[in-house]
Amino acid sequence: MVRRYQIRTYGCQMNEADSERLAGLFDADGYERTDRADDADVIVLNTCCIRENADNRLYGALGHLKALKDGRPDLQIAVAGCLAQKDQELIQQRAGHVDVVFGTHNVHRAPQLLADARQHGPVIEILDAAARDDGEMFPTALATTRELDHAAWLTIQVGCDNSCAFCIVPAVRGPELSRPFGDLVADAVRLAADGVQEITLLGQNVNSYGRDITTARRRRDPDVEDAAAAGPVWADDPARRARPLFADLLRAVGAVSGIDRVRYTSPHPKDLRPETLAAMAETPAVCEHLHLPVQSGSDAVLAAMHRGYAADRYLDKLAAARAAIDDLAVSTDIIVGFPGETDADFDATLELAAAAQYDYAYTFQYSPRPGTEAAERTEAYVDPAVTNDRYERLRTVVERSALAQHRARVGRNEEVLIEAPSKKDERVMSGRTRQNKLVHVAATESLRPGTLATVTVTDAAAHYLHGELVEVLASPRRRTKIPVVAG
Ligand code: SAM
Ligand code: SF4
Repeated sequence: MVRRYQIRTYGCQMNEADSERLAGLFDADGYERTDRADDADVIVLNTCCIRENADNRLYGALGHLKALKDGRPDLQIAVAGCLAQKDQELIQQRAGHVDVVFGTHNVHRAPQLLADARQHGPVIEILDAAARDDGEMFPTALATTRELDHAAWLTIQVGCDNSCAFCIVPAVRGPELSRPFGDLVADAVRLAADGVQEITLLGQNVNSYGRDITTARRRRDPDVEDAAAAGPVWADDPARRARPLFADLLRAVGAVSGIDRVRYTSPHPKDLRPETLAAMAETPAVCEHLHLPVQSGSDAVLAAMHRGYAADRYLDKLAAARAAIDDLAVSTDIIVGFPGETDADFDATLELAAAAQYDYAYTFQYSPRPGTEAAERTEAYVDPAVTNDRYERLRTVVERSALAQHRARVGRNEEVLIEAPSKKDERVMSGRTRQNKLVHVAATESLRPGTLATVTVTDAAAHYLHGELVEVLASPRRRTKIPVVAG
Protein backbone atom coordinates (compact mmCIF):
# COMPACT_ATOMS: atom_id res chain seq x y z
CA MET A 1 0.00 0.00 0.00
CA VAL A 2 1.39 3.40 -1.01
CA ARG A 3 1.43 5.87 1.85
CA ARG A 4 0.18 9.40 1.12
CA TYR A 5 1.33 12.68 2.64
CA GLN A 6 -0.10 16.15 2.89
CA ILE A 7 2.02 19.17 3.84
CA ARG A 8 0.41 22.40 5.06
CA THR A 9 2.71 25.40 5.08
CA TYR A 10 2.22 28.37 7.37
CA GLY A 11 4.61 31.29 7.05
CA CYS A 12 7.40 32.75 5.01
CA GLN A 13 9.44 31.71 1.98
CA MET A 14 11.85 29.83 4.25
CA ASN A 15 8.96 27.62 5.29
CA GLU A 16 7.87 27.17 1.70
CA ALA A 17 11.41 26.10 0.83
CA ASP A 18 11.49 23.69 3.80
CA SER A 19 8.13 22.24 2.69
CA GLU A 20 9.46 21.60 -0.81
CA ARG A 21 12.41 19.85 0.77
CA LEU A 22 10.09 17.73 2.95
CA ALA A 23 8.03 16.83 -0.13
CA GLY A 24 11.25 15.75 -1.89
CA LEU A 25 12.12 13.49 1.05
CA PHE A 26 8.68 11.87 1.13
CA ASP A 27 8.68 11.37 -2.64
CA ALA A 28 12.12 9.75 -2.45
CA ASP A 29 10.78 7.48 0.28
CA GLY A 30 7.99 6.21 -1.99
CA TYR A 31 5.14 8.30 -0.53
CA GLU A 32 2.57 9.94 -2.81
CA ARG A 33 1.38 13.47 -2.34
CA THR A 34 -2.28 14.28 -1.74
CA ASP A 35 -4.13 17.55 -1.27
CA ARG A 36 -6.94 15.88 0.71
CA ALA A 37 -6.55 15.32 4.44
CA ASP A 38 -9.06 12.43 4.19
CA ASP A 39 -6.69 10.52 1.87
CA ALA A 40 -3.51 11.24 3.80
CA ASP A 41 -1.61 8.76 5.95
CA VAL A 42 0.69 11.54 7.14
CA ILE A 43 -0.16 15.22 7.61
CA VAL A 44 2.75 17.58 8.29
CA LEU A 45 2.02 21.08 9.58
CA ASN A 46 5.07 23.20 8.77
CA THR A 47 4.72 26.12 11.13
CA CYS A 48 5.77 29.71 11.63
CA CYS A 49 6.02 31.63 14.91
CA ILE A 50 6.88 35.14 13.72
CA ARG A 51 3.56 36.49 14.96
CA GLU A 52 1.09 35.22 17.52
CA ASN A 53 -1.67 34.53 15.01
CA ALA A 54 0.59 31.86 13.50
CA ASP A 55 0.48 30.07 16.87
CA ASN A 56 -3.28 30.36 16.95
CA ARG A 57 -3.64 29.01 13.43
CA LEU A 58 -1.55 25.95 14.28
CA TYR A 59 -3.49 25.05 17.41
CA GLY A 60 -6.77 25.71 15.55
CA ALA A 61 -5.72 23.33 12.76
CA LEU A 62 -4.65 20.69 15.26
CA GLY A 63 -8.06 20.96 16.93
CA HIS A 64 -9.77 20.20 13.60
CA LEU A 65 -7.46 17.26 12.93
CA LYS A 66 -8.33 15.63 16.24
CA ALA A 67 -11.65 14.30 14.92
CA LEU A 68 -9.92 12.89 11.84
CA LYS A 69 -7.32 11.15 13.97
CA ASP A 70 -9.99 9.78 16.36
CA GLY A 71 -11.69 8.15 13.36
CA ARG A 72 -8.41 6.92 11.84
CA PRO A 73 -5.85 6.20 14.59
CA ASP A 74 -3.26 5.15 11.95
CA LEU A 75 -3.15 8.69 10.58
CA GLN A 76 0.12 10.32 11.61
CA ILE A 77 0.26 14.03 12.42
CA ALA A 78 3.60 15.83 12.52
CA VAL A 79 4.39 19.42 13.49
CA ALA A 80 7.54 20.94 11.99
CA GLY A 81 9.16 24.35 11.64
CA CYS A 82 9.68 27.41 13.80
CA LEU A 83 6.77 26.88 16.14
CA ALA A 84 7.87 23.30 16.79
CA GLN A 85 11.33 24.65 17.57
CA LYS A 86 9.80 27.19 19.96
CA ASP A 87 7.09 25.15 21.70
CA GLN A 88 8.76 21.71 21.67
CA GLU A 89 6.99 19.34 24.14
CA LEU A 90 4.24 21.92 24.73
CA ILE A 91 2.75 20.89 21.37
CA GLN A 92 2.11 17.31 22.47
CA GLN A 93 0.92 18.57 25.86
CA ARG A 94 -1.68 20.78 24.17
CA ALA A 95 -2.49 18.32 21.39
CA GLY A 96 -1.92 14.75 22.54
CA HIS A 97 -2.82 13.39 19.09
CA VAL A 98 0.39 14.76 17.52
CA ASP A 99 2.73 11.87 16.66
CA VAL A 100 5.94 13.68 15.72
CA VAL A 101 7.43 17.09 16.52
CA PHE A 102 10.65 18.13 14.79
CA GLY A 103 12.40 21.48 14.51
CA THR A 104 14.06 23.65 11.90
CA HIS A 105 17.45 21.90 11.98
CA ASN A 106 16.39 18.32 11.28
CA VAL A 107 13.92 18.50 8.40
CA HIS A 108 15.89 15.71 6.70
CA ARG A 109 14.92 13.31 9.53
CA ALA A 110 11.15 13.52 8.93
CA PRO A 111 10.55 10.12 7.25
CA GLN A 112 12.71 8.33 9.85
CA LEU A 113 10.96 10.03 12.77
CA LEU A 114 7.56 9.06 11.37
CA ALA A 115 8.75 5.45 11.02
CA ASP A 116 10.05 5.53 14.61
CA ALA A 117 6.71 6.87 15.84
CA ARG A 118 4.84 4.02 14.09
CA GLN A 119 7.03 1.54 16.01
CA HIS A 120 7.42 3.19 19.37
CA GLY A 121 4.80 5.92 19.80
CA PRO A 122 5.08 9.74 19.85
CA VAL A 123 8.48 11.27 19.05
CA ILE A 124 9.95 14.71 19.60
CA GLU A 125 13.33 15.69 18.14
CA ILE A 126 14.59 19.27 18.34
CA LEU A 127 18.23 20.18 17.69
CA ASP A 128 19.78 23.41 18.95
CA ALA A 129 21.59 24.30 15.74
CA ALA A 130 22.32 23.16 12.20
CA ALA A 131 25.67 21.47 11.61
CA ARG A 132 27.75 23.15 8.93
CA ASP A 133 29.58 20.07 7.78
CA ASP A 134 26.62 17.77 7.60
CA GLY A 135 25.47 17.82 4.00
CA GLU A 136 22.16 16.24 4.95
CA MET A 137 21.22 18.81 7.53
CA PHE A 138 22.20 21.82 5.55
CA PRO A 139 19.55 22.57 2.95
CA THR A 140 20.40 22.16 -0.68
CA ALA A 141 17.89 22.97 -3.38
CA LEU A 142 18.32 19.61 -5.02
CA ALA A 143 16.44 17.00 -3.03
CA THR A 144 13.21 18.95 -3.30
CA THR A 145 9.87 18.56 -5.02
CA ARG A 146 9.05 22.03 -6.30
CA GLU A 147 5.60 23.64 -6.31
CA LEU A 148 6.40 25.19 -9.68
CA ASP A 149 8.57 23.22 -12.10
CA HIS A 150 10.22 26.32 -13.52
CA ALA A 151 10.95 28.19 -10.26
CA ALA A 152 13.17 27.17 -7.35
CA TRP A 153 14.17 28.50 -3.97
CA LEU A 154 17.88 28.35 -3.26
CA THR A 155 18.65 28.76 0.44
CA ILE A 156 22.02 30.50 0.63
CA GLN A 157 22.14 30.92 4.39
CA VAL A 158 20.12 29.79 7.38
CA GLY A 159 19.69 31.54 10.72
CA CYS A 160 20.37 35.16 11.63
CA ASP A 161 23.08 36.95 13.62
CA ASN A 162 21.10 40.17 14.10
CA SER A 163 19.09 40.92 17.20
CA CYS A 164 16.08 42.97 16.15
CA ALA A 165 14.18 43.56 19.40
CA PHE A 166 10.86 42.24 18.04
CA CYS A 167 12.09 39.13 16.28
CA ILE A 168 12.08 35.48 17.30
CA VAL A 169 13.89 34.21 14.18
CA PRO A 170 17.41 34.04 15.70
CA ALA A 171 16.01 31.97 18.60
CA VAL A 172 14.28 29.43 16.36
CA ARG A 173 16.52 29.38 13.29
CA GLY A 174 19.87 29.68 15.10
CA PRO A 175 23.01 31.60 14.13
CA GLU A 176 23.82 32.52 10.55
CA LEU A 177 25.36 29.77 8.44
CA SER A 178 26.14 30.29 4.77
CA ARG A 179 26.32 27.51 2.22
CA PRO A 180 29.60 27.39 0.30
CA PHE A 181 29.68 29.52 -2.83
CA GLY A 182 30.69 26.64 -5.10
CA ASP A 183 27.88 24.41 -3.81
CA LEU A 184 25.33 27.12 -4.53
CA VAL A 185 26.56 27.70 -8.07
CA ALA A 186 26.63 23.93 -8.66
CA ASP A 187 23.01 23.73 -7.39
CA ALA A 188 22.01 26.53 -9.75
CA VAL A 189 23.61 24.72 -12.71
CA ARG A 190 21.79 21.51 -11.85
CA LEU A 191 18.50 23.33 -11.33
CA ALA A 192 18.88 24.93 -14.77
CA ALA A 193 19.56 21.49 -16.26
CA ASP A 194 16.28 20.38 -14.64
CA GLY A 195 14.37 23.12 -16.48
CA VAL A 196 14.33 25.76 -13.76
CA GLN A 197 14.19 29.28 -15.23
CA GLU A 198 13.82 31.37 -12.09
CA ILE A 199 15.85 31.08 -8.89
CA THR A 200 15.08 32.98 -5.68
CA LEU A 201 18.04 33.21 -3.32
CA LEU A 202 16.83 32.94 0.27
CA GLY A 203 18.30 34.12 3.54
CA GLN A 204 17.34 36.29 6.53
CA ASN A 205 20.06 38.79 5.71
CA VAL A 206 21.40 37.88 2.28
CA ASN A 207 23.89 40.75 2.24
CA SER A 208 25.89 39.23 5.04
CA TYR A 209 26.24 36.05 2.99
CA GLY A 210 29.68 34.49 3.52
CA ARG A 211 30.62 36.37 6.69
CA ASP A 212 30.55 33.17 8.75
CA ILE A 213 32.52 31.28 6.10
CA THR A 214 35.36 33.76 6.51
CA THR A 215 35.27 33.42 10.27
CA ALA A 216 35.28 29.63 10.05
CA ARG A 217 38.15 29.52 7.57
CA ARG A 218 40.28 32.38 8.78
CA ARG A 219 43.31 30.20 9.31
CA ARG A 220 42.93 28.19 6.14
CA ASP A 221 43.39 29.13 2.51
CA PRO A 222 40.10 30.91 1.97
CA ASP A 223 37.55 29.41 -0.33
CA VAL A 224 39.88 27.33 -2.47
CA GLU A 225 37.31 24.63 -3.07
CA ASP A 226 34.60 27.22 -3.53
CA ALA A 227 36.68 29.06 -6.07
CA ALA A 228 37.34 25.89 -8.04
CA ALA A 229 33.66 25.02 -8.10
CA ALA A 230 32.37 28.49 -8.78
CA GLY A 231 33.46 28.84 -12.37
CA PRO A 232 34.87 31.86 -14.14
CA VAL A 233 32.59 34.55 -12.74
CA TRP A 234 34.29 34.73 -9.41
CA ALA A 235 37.12 32.19 -9.34
CA ASP A 236 39.08 33.53 -12.33
CA ASP A 237 38.81 37.14 -11.34
CA PRO A 238 42.33 38.30 -10.41
CA ALA A 239 40.80 40.92 -8.13
CA ARG A 240 38.81 38.24 -6.38
CA ARG A 241 37.94 39.18 -2.83
CA ALA A 242 39.06 37.13 0.14
CA ARG A 243 35.52 35.96 0.55
CA PRO A 244 32.62 35.91 -1.84
CA LEU A 245 30.15 38.71 -1.35
CA PHE A 246 26.46 38.36 -1.99
CA ALA A 247 27.07 40.47 -5.09
CA ASP A 248 29.45 37.81 -6.44
CA LEU A 249 26.79 35.20 -5.87
CA LEU A 250 24.19 37.25 -7.74
CA ARG A 251 26.53 37.54 -10.70
CA ALA A 252 27.50 33.87 -10.63
CA VAL A 253 23.93 32.55 -10.41
CA GLY A 254 22.82 35.11 -12.99
CA ALA A 255 25.49 33.82 -15.37
CA VAL A 256 24.22 30.22 -15.25
CA SER A 257 22.96 29.29 -18.69
CA GLY A 258 19.21 28.71 -18.72
CA ILE A 259 18.45 30.86 -15.66
CA ASP A 260 16.33 33.73 -17.01
CA ARG A 261 15.51 35.34 -13.69
CA VAL A 262 17.23 35.67 -10.34
CA ARG A 263 15.43 37.12 -7.31
CA TYR A 264 16.40 37.33 -3.67
CA THR A 265 14.94 38.02 -0.27
CA SER A 266 15.68 39.64 2.15
CA PRO A 267 18.55 42.10 2.27
CA HIS A 268 18.92 44.02 5.52
CA PRO A 269 19.07 47.78 4.78
CA LYS A 270 22.10 48.30 7.04
CA ASP A 271 24.12 45.82 4.97
CA LEU A 272 22.92 46.73 1.48
CA ARG A 273 26.17 47.45 -0.34
CA PRO A 274 26.90 49.33 -3.56
CA GLU A 275 28.40 46.08 -4.91
CA THR A 276 24.97 44.46 -4.67
CA LEU A 277 23.32 47.30 -6.58
CA ALA A 278 26.05 47.15 -9.23
CA ALA A 279 25.60 43.39 -9.58
CA MET A 280 21.84 43.88 -9.96
CA ALA A 281 22.33 46.56 -12.59
CA GLU A 282 24.97 44.65 -14.54
CA THR A 283 23.55 41.12 -14.47
CA PRO A 284 20.71 40.86 -16.98
CA ALA A 285 19.09 37.87 -15.27
CA VAL A 286 18.74 39.64 -11.92
CA CYS A 287 15.22 41.07 -11.74
CA GLU A 288 14.49 44.75 -11.18
CA HIS A 289 12.91 44.29 -7.78
CA LEU A 290 14.26 45.12 -4.34
CA HIS A 291 12.48 44.00 -1.18
CA LEU A 292 14.02 46.21 1.50
CA PRO A 293 12.29 45.81 4.89
CA VAL A 294 12.20 49.17 6.70
CA GLN A 295 10.03 48.24 9.74
CA SER A 296 9.46 51.88 10.82
CA GLY A 297 9.98 55.45 9.64
CA SER A 298 10.81 56.77 13.11
CA ASP A 299 14.46 57.00 14.12
CA ALA A 300 13.55 56.46 17.77
CA VAL A 301 11.63 53.28 16.96
CA LEU A 302 14.35 52.05 14.58
CA ALA A 303 16.90 52.55 17.36
CA ALA A 304 14.71 50.72 19.88
CA MET A 305 14.33 47.90 17.36
CA HIS A 306 18.16 47.77 16.94
CA ARG A 307 17.84 47.98 13.18
CA GLY A 308 21.15 49.77 12.69
CA TYR A 309 19.97 52.56 10.35
CA ALA A 310 17.99 55.80 10.49
CA ALA A 311 15.10 56.70 8.17
CA ASP A 312 17.16 59.16 6.09
CA ARG A 313 19.89 56.63 5.54
CA TYR A 314 17.29 54.08 4.43
CA LEU A 315 15.79 56.53 1.94
CA ASP A 316 19.29 57.35 0.65
CA LYS A 317 19.89 53.68 -0.02
CA LEU A 318 16.58 53.43 -1.82
CA ALA A 319 17.47 56.45 -3.96
CA ALA A 320 20.87 54.90 -4.76
CA ALA A 321 19.16 51.66 -5.77
CA ARG A 322 16.69 53.49 -8.01
CA ALA A 323 19.51 55.51 -9.58
CA ALA A 324 21.57 52.36 -10.26
CA ILE A 325 18.80 50.12 -11.58
CA ASP A 326 16.37 51.16 -14.29
CA ASP A 327 12.68 50.62 -13.63
CA LEU A 328 13.24 49.19 -10.15
CA ALA A 329 10.22 48.07 -8.13
CA VAL A 330 10.58 48.40 -4.37
CA SER A 331 8.71 46.64 -1.59
CA THR A 332 9.08 46.47 2.17
CA ASP A 333 7.94 45.14 5.55
CA ILE A 334 6.56 47.54 8.16
CA ILE A 335 5.50 46.91 11.76
CA VAL A 336 3.00 49.21 13.47
CA GLY A 337 2.40 49.41 17.20
CA PHE A 338 5.94 48.51 18.29
CA PRO A 339 6.19 49.10 22.09
CA GLY A 340 6.57 52.82 22.78
CA GLU A 341 5.51 53.91 19.26
CA THR A 342 3.95 57.38 19.63
CA ASP A 343 1.62 59.22 17.25
CA ALA A 344 4.64 61.22 16.07
CA ASP A 345 6.63 58.02 15.45
CA PHE A 346 3.77 56.63 13.43
CA ASP A 347 3.44 59.85 11.43
CA ALA A 348 7.11 59.44 10.52
CA THR A 349 6.32 55.95 9.24
CA LEU A 350 3.47 57.32 7.12
CA GLU A 351 5.81 59.98 5.75
CA LEU A 352 8.50 57.47 4.92
CA ALA A 353 6.01 55.15 3.23
CA ALA A 354 4.68 58.02 1.12
CA ALA A 355 8.20 59.19 0.23
CA ALA A 356 9.38 55.68 -0.67
CA GLN A 357 6.50 55.16 -3.11
CA TYR A 358 6.45 51.43 -2.54
CA ASP A 359 5.14 49.04 -5.13
CA TYR A 360 3.82 46.94 -2.27
CA ALA A 361 4.39 46.42 1.42
CA TYR A 362 3.77 43.69 3.92
CA THR A 363 2.35 45.50 6.93
CA PHE A 364 2.11 43.89 10.35
CA GLN A 365 0.69 44.76 13.73
CA TYR A 366 3.38 44.25 16.37
CA SER A 367 3.03 40.88 18.03
CA PRO A 368 4.97 40.19 21.26
CA ARG A 369 7.10 37.08 20.91
CA PRO A 370 8.25 35.27 24.04
CA GLY A 371 11.91 35.73 24.87
CA THR A 372 12.42 38.79 22.64
CA GLU A 373 13.58 42.10 24.09
CA ALA A 374 10.53 44.10 22.97
CA ALA A 375 8.08 41.61 24.46
CA GLU A 376 9.49 42.44 27.93
CA ARG A 377 8.46 46.09 27.57
CA THR A 378 4.87 45.45 28.62
CA GLU A 379 4.54 48.94 30.15
CA ALA A 380 5.10 50.44 26.67
CA TYR A 381 2.65 48.24 24.74
CA VAL A 382 0.45 50.26 22.39
CA ASP A 383 -3.33 50.02 22.84
CA PRO A 384 -4.56 47.42 20.28
CA ALA A 385 -7.29 49.81 19.06
CA VAL A 386 -4.65 52.46 18.34
CA THR A 387 -2.45 49.90 16.57
CA ASN A 388 -5.39 48.77 14.50
CA ASP A 389 -6.22 52.32 13.47
CA ARG A 390 -2.59 53.00 12.51
CA TYR A 391 -2.47 49.76 10.57
CA GLU A 392 -5.49 50.80 8.45
CA ARG A 393 -4.07 54.27 7.83
CA LEU A 394 -0.75 52.81 6.72
CA ARG A 395 -2.49 50.39 4.39
CA THR A 396 -4.27 53.29 2.72
CA VAL A 397 -0.96 55.07 2.07
CA VAL A 398 0.73 51.94 0.75
CA GLU A 399 -2.19 51.02 -1.50
CA ARG A 400 -2.20 54.54 -2.92
CA SER A 401 1.41 54.29 -4.04
CA ALA A 402 0.97 50.68 -5.21
CA LEU A 403 -1.96 51.71 -7.40
CA ALA A 404 -0.05 54.69 -8.77
CA GLN A 405 2.96 52.51 -9.60
CA HIS A 406 0.70 49.96 -11.28
CA ARG A 407 -1.30 52.53 -13.25
CA ALA A 408 1.94 53.93 -14.60
CA ARG A 409 2.49 50.57 -16.30
CA VAL A 410 -0.78 50.54 -18.25
CA GLY A 411 -0.04 50.53 -21.99
CA ARG A 412 3.49 49.20 -21.53
CA ASN A 413 4.82 45.89 -22.80
CA GLU A 414 6.16 43.70 -20.01
CA GLU A 415 8.08 40.42 -19.97
CA VAL A 416 5.91 37.96 -18.04
CA LEU A 417 6.88 34.50 -16.78
CA ILE A 418 3.68 32.46 -16.63
CA GLU A 419 3.20 30.60 -13.33
CA ALA A 420 -0.14 28.82 -13.21
CA PRO A 421 -3.83 29.05 -14.02
CA SER A 422 -5.47 31.72 -11.90
CA LYS A 423 -7.03 30.28 -8.72
CA LYS A 424 -10.23 32.26 -9.29
CA ASP A 425 -10.72 31.74 -13.02
CA GLU A 426 -9.06 28.93 -14.94
CA ARG A 427 -9.63 30.72 -18.26
CA VAL A 428 -6.93 33.08 -17.04
CA MET A 429 -3.21 32.40 -16.62
CA SER A 430 -1.24 34.27 -13.97
CA GLY A 431 2.38 35.25 -14.16
CA ARG A 432 4.90 37.74 -12.86
CA THR A 433 6.72 40.63 -14.47
CA ARG A 434 10.41 41.14 -13.76
CA GLN A 435 9.28 43.71 -11.16
CA ASN A 436 7.41 40.86 -9.40
CA LYS A 437 3.99 42.17 -10.32
CA LEU A 438 1.18 39.67 -10.63
CA VAL A 439 -0.38 39.79 -14.11
CA HIS A 440 -3.52 38.02 -15.30
CA VAL A 441 -3.67 37.15 -19.00
CA ALA A 442 -6.42 35.36 -20.95
CA ALA A 443 -5.34 31.72 -21.29
CA THR A 444 -4.31 30.35 -24.68
CA GLU A 445 -2.75 27.03 -25.54
CA SER A 446 0.60 28.71 -25.96
CA LEU A 447 0.62 30.03 -22.39
CA ARG A 448 1.81 27.28 -20.07
CA PRO A 449 3.60 27.48 -16.72
CA GLY A 450 7.16 28.45 -17.55
CA THR A 451 6.29 30.30 -20.78
CA LEU A 452 8.06 33.62 -21.15
CA ALA A 453 5.82 36.09 -22.98
CA THR A 454 5.48 39.74 -23.86
CA VAL A 455 2.23 41.13 -22.47
CA THR A 456 0.67 44.57 -22.89
CA VAL A 457 -0.65 45.87 -19.58
CA THR A 458 -4.28 46.85 -20.08
CA ASP A 459 -5.53 47.55 -16.56
CA ALA A 460 -4.18 48.00 -13.05
CA ALA A 461 -5.34 47.45 -9.48
CA ALA A 462 -3.34 47.86 -6.26
CA HIS A 463 -2.34 44.20 -6.10
CA TYR A 464 -2.33 43.00 -9.73
CA LEU A 465 -2.32 43.93 -13.40
CA HIS A 466 -4.36 42.71 -16.36
CA GLY A 467 -2.67 42.18 -19.67
CA GLU A 468 -3.02 40.91 -23.23
CA LEU A 469 -0.61 38.50 -24.84
CA VAL A 470 1.56 40.09 -27.53
CA GLU A 471 3.92 37.22 -28.26
CA VAL A 472 5.47 34.15 -26.72
CA LEU A 473 9.18 34.72 -26.23
CA ALA A 474 10.12 31.22 -25.11
CA SER A 475 8.28 28.02 -24.29
CA PRO A 476 8.80 26.31 -20.95
CA ARG A 477 11.92 24.20 -20.88
CA ARG A 478 10.40 21.57 -18.64
CA ARG A 479 7.29 19.50 -19.23
CA THR A 480 4.69 20.54 -16.71
CA LYS A 481 2.35 18.41 -14.65
CA ILE A 482 -0.20 21.21 -14.26
CA PRO A 483 -3.17 20.86 -16.66
CA VAL A 484 -3.56 23.76 -19.06
CA VAL A 485 -6.96 25.19 -19.94
CA ALA A 486 -7.37 26.45 -23.49
CA GLY A 487 -9.04 29.82 -23.85
N1 SAM B 1 15.10 39.04 7.99
C1 SAM B 1 14.13 39.90 7.44
C2 SAM B 1 14.52 41.35 7.72
O1 SAM B 1 15.18 41.65 8.68
O2 SAM B 1 14.10 42.17 6.97
C3 SAM B 1 12.75 39.66 7.96
C4 SAM B 1 12.33 38.34 8.38
S1 SAM B 1 10.78 38.21 9.21
C5 SAM B 1 10.51 36.53 8.86
C6 SAM B 1 9.59 38.97 8.16
C7 SAM B 1 8.93 40.15 8.74
O3 SAM B 1 8.08 39.81 9.80
C8 SAM B 1 9.84 41.20 9.33
O4 SAM B 1 10.44 41.99 8.35
C9 SAM B 1 8.90 41.99 10.21
O5 SAM B 1 8.30 43.04 9.51
C10 SAM B 1 7.84 40.95 10.57
N2 SAM B 1 7.93 40.59 11.99
C11 SAM B 1 8.92 39.93 12.61
N3 SAM B 1 8.67 39.83 13.92
C12 SAM B 1 7.49 40.45 14.16
C13 SAM B 1 6.70 40.69 15.32
N4 SAM B 1 7.10 40.28 16.50
N5 SAM B 1 5.54 41.36 15.17
C14 SAM B 1 5.14 41.79 13.96
N6 SAM B 1 5.84 41.59 12.82
C15 SAM B 1 7.01 40.93 12.92
FE1 SF4 C 1 14.67 38.92 12.52
FE2 SF4 C 1 16.14 41.11 12.31
FE3 SF4 C 1 17.19 38.72 11.75
FE4 SF4 C 1 15.38 39.81 10.12
S1 SF4 C 1 17.42 40.62 10.55
S2 SF4 C 1 15.44 37.69 10.85
S3 SF4 C 1 14.03 40.82 11.52
S4 SF4 C 1 16.51 39.41 13.73
